[in-house]
Amino acid sequence: MITEILSPLRPDLTAAQLAKFETYYVMLADWNTRLNLTTIIAPEDVAKKHFLDSFAAEPYLKDGASIADVGTGAGFPGIPLLIVRPDLKVTLMDSQQKKLVFLEAVLERLGLTAECVHARAEDAGQNPRYRERFDAALTRAVSGLPVLCELTLPLVKVGGVSIAYKGDAAEEISASQNALELLHATAERMMIPSDYGVRELVILTKTAATPKQYPRKAGTPAKKPL
Ligand code: SAM
Repeated sequence: MITEILSPLRPDLTAAQLAKFETYYVMLADWNTRLNLTTIIAPEDVAKKHFLDSFAAEPYLKDGASIADVGTGAGFPGIPLLIVRPDLKVTLMDSQQKKLVFLEAVLERLGLTAECVHARAEDAGQNPRYRERFDAALTRAVSGLPVLCELTLPLVKVGGVSIAYKGDAAEEISASQNALELLHATAERMMIPSDYGVRELVILTKTAATPKQYPRKAGTPAKKPL
């Protein structure tokens, strides 16, 4: 059923890719009864609001890019992107262990490889294994933009991008001016074609190394946004 909805919207997908989306959907619906992974679960909604929406960052990710999906939850946008772009080196990061258990089961069933990291972004951002290691960080439905600046920009290389999936982002961008200045990044907006309201990507480009004091300790970015 996912196949019938997705294939007219993305006619380039192969039968093997469509089969992966079908399996991912079946697992999401099954595990959701126990784990409360998402409130969006009807097939058409999952196809459009999770899968298709996740694809939006694809044109901004160069061939072979390393990406961190921060606060990935049930795998959005990282897993749909990995299905359509197997060249990507994907790291799925979340602070909730139960999400990681689900993600590892999905990856195994779909025959995909990604690193699954159980961590808060604030801690990962101060860990040399992850700090300034990624070409791109992606976030969808994780936090307001001033907080996202601090959670994601430390993970990204100088010259890399942090891409936030948003609704109308005008106000959030205005509220992020201080964070952008302190963390050395610029912001631009890209509209996502959508038939369910305004969808945008905010693309933050990192122009210089992140000062050592950022990110602050876990919880502080949300309590006291820059
Ligand atoms: N990105 C997914 C999506 O679009 O469906 C999940 C969104 S869910 C509303 C937010 C997720 O972000 C949760 O799984 C939560 O555990 C995770 N999260 C929130 N703050 C985080 C942080 N500081 N570090 C890592 N993960 C975080």
